[in-house]
Amino acid sequence: MSNKVILPGSFDPITLGHLDIIKRIAKTYEEIIIVIGQNVSKTSLFSPETRKEIIEKIIENYKLTNVKVEISDELIVDYANKVGANAIIRGLRNGTDFEYEQFIAYNNLHLNEEIETIFYLARPEHLHISSSGVKEILKFNHKVDNLVPSEVLDYIKGKNEDL
Ligand code: ADP
Repeated sequence: MSNKVILPGSFDPITLGHLDIIKRIAKTYEEIIIVIGQNVSKTSLFSPETRKEIIEKIIENYKLTNVKVEISDELIVDYANKVGANAIIRGLRNGTDFEYEQFIAYNNLHLNEEIETIFYLARPEHLHISSSGVKEILKFNHKVDNLVPSEVLDYIKGKNEDL
């Protein structure tokens, strides 16, 4: 059996909460694919290609040699099946995440019995961090230094020099 897992999400942008989960799973699994879902929403901060570029820089800087990143708009269980991954990793912050994730995990299990969903609890210091919160703060021209990896800050500065 392969020891390959996928971590799907929007990562718009990747946050310190995401990075913590990535570092933790990189210690446990042989191969990790971060899968960026296509975001058709006009309110997205970065294009999927830019999100991929940022995450690739982070992977390089943290020497996460068993992690790679791809963009896909496929149904996530189909993508997992295609690449030979046997589990989907998701992070959980609170009961609201759990309700939503439980629903998706049961649907995915119904679609493909072979692919498990594995949950990682967010660290207490990351419970308040979300990509949508970061976008909201940026909209009001406030700094997000303690919410996202420094690699993201370089790209944000590219959009607004004051931040
Ligand atoms: P989605 O848009 O599908 O919710 P996200 O990009 O927001 O995807 O998140 C991808 C994964 O990271 C999800 O499993 C989500 O629960 C998890 N996640 C989001 N924020 C945090 C955080 N602060 N700490 C830990 N996990 C998180």
